[in-house]
Amino acid sequence: MGQTAGVPTSSDYERMLRRAALRVTRPRVAVLTAVHAHPHADTDTILGAVRTDAGEVSHQAIYDVLKVLTNARLIRRIQPAGHVARYESRVGDNHHHVVCRACGVIADADCAVGSAPCLTASDEHGFVIDEAEVIYWGQCSDCAAAPIS
Ligand SMILES: [Zn+2]
Ligand SMILES: [Zn+2]
Repeated sequence: MGQTAGVPTSSDYERMLRRAALRVTRPRVAVLTAVHAHPHADTDTILGAVRTDAGEVSHQAIYDVLKVLTNARLIRRIQPAGHVARYESRVGDNHHHVVCRACGVIADADCAVGSAPCLTASDEHGFVIDEAEVIYWGQCSDCAAAPIS
């Protein structure tokens, strides 16, 4: 435990893990690296990047790491209806997403108006609301320009 294998770019991620009171492990650092490098990537994309980076890691291990990192709020999980879960490193700013119905591409959309949560619920039911999750659905510019097949 404790060796870093001399990868210089991992030091920032190690610091993030420690700040979140998480043990620094090679798969955790590799997943953090992959999510930062591939915003809105799905599990398979992350798995591919991690295997390139850190060698053979099981699907289940990646799954577990993603869960731990999401719970620690180091990464954010988004799952548009009908799509697989995606992960991103942009956390804590209550930004939203635009999703293409045709090809599933996802882009960030900043807060609609004002500060987080940028939607005021008509009835909060006594909850202390800290986040509003909005997905704007439509067609990306590529799909909108493509002839309907
Ligand atoms: Zn599209
Ligand atoms: Zn995003």
